Amino acid sequence: MPDYILEVKNLKMYFPIHGGVFRRRVGWVYAVDGVSLKVKAGQTLGLVGESGCGKTTAGRAIARLYKPTAGEVIFEGKNLSRLNAHNLRTVRRDLQMMFQDPFESLNARHTIRDILQEPYEIHSIGSHEERQSEISELLARVGMSEDVLSRFPHEFSGGQRQRIGIARAVTLKPKMIICDEPVSALDVSIQSQILNLLLELQTEMRLTYIFIAHDLAVVKHISDHIAVMYLGKIIEYSDADTIYQNPVHPYTHALISAIPVPDPEVRKKKQILKGDVPSPTHPPSGCVFHTRCPYEKNYCKTEVPDLVPAPGTHGEIHLQACLRAGEISFP
Ligand code: ADP
Ligand code: MG
Repeated sequence: MPDYILEVKNLKMYFPIHGGVFRRRVGWVYAVDGVSLKVKAGQTLGLVGESGCGKTTAGRAIARLYKPTAGEVIFEGKNLSRLNAHNLRTVRRDLQMMFQDPFESLNARHTIRDILQEPYEIHSIGSHEERQSEISELLARVGMSEDVLSRFPHEFSGGQRQRIGIARAVTLKPKMIICDEPVSALDVSIQSQILNLLLELQTEMRLTYIFIAHDLAVVKHISDHIAVMYLGKIIEYSDADTIYQNPVHPYTHALISAIPVPDPEVRKKKQILKGDVPSPTHPPSGCVFHTRCPYEKNYCKTEVPDLVPAPGTHGEIHLQACLRAGEISFP
């Protein structure tokens, strides 16, 4: 059993842009542009960044819902890009993906029973009786009663839908779930209930998570490690405590300073980022963050920073991609 259940090497996902009368390719969307990461079994990697940074695309390419433009995804020692369709299907049992709205892509006329049965049907698992008793158990585990089975997704609140979505994601006892903003649309009080349920299931089933969020506050308590993504690249990576207490990259610092602090006495100086994430069809030269960085120097426009160990690290893994690392003291 390898130490890391998932290893992603230099993953790239470019979407072609077609235009003109002949619908020729006129450009690319560089949605994910060289992402490398590793996740240990039973742990959670938080993947954060503003909307449009490429988090969903990275998640989908890792789960092989997209065929990556380049790079490798090694899951449990298997290189997913080299698997044929049959073997890929087997891997999908172990590597699930969960979305913000779990039923968006499903037929609205399907009952909860249909939805929860489908994974068994796809993989031809269990007898009818076995399926029914497992589904009842699963529902109870996620805090729903059996009478939901004959109802339809639209009859439920966001939090209830997400509970059913979680039940569906763990039906076939996967090893890893890529959770794409599963709580982003929920009220804060409901968010913590769903996060707690995910944490309990992680311990019970020894699940590994990649947890995607646009908000650092959400991933703070559930992540072992955090990768901060900006415009298709990881710009900082470390254990969760280090990211919060000692961020090195100005983008990470800005995301942290945007987290509301309840106690006005300890209110930090907010670092508001100017503008939006630039278009990934024409990413900025040099450091992709330079157009919005308050600490930008001339050379940031031309030099491309690598993801390298942060200054002063000794053995612990803290990577960052700012050319001025160690020179900047944040307010
Ligand atoms: P995030 O999840 O961080 O908000 P996404 O991965 O959804 O970011 O999107 C990253 C960029 O890729 C965005 O600019 C988005 O418009 C673009 N993009 C995403 N999916 C596609 C697609 N299927 N075709 C073309 N562009 C896409
Ligand atoms: Mg997204």
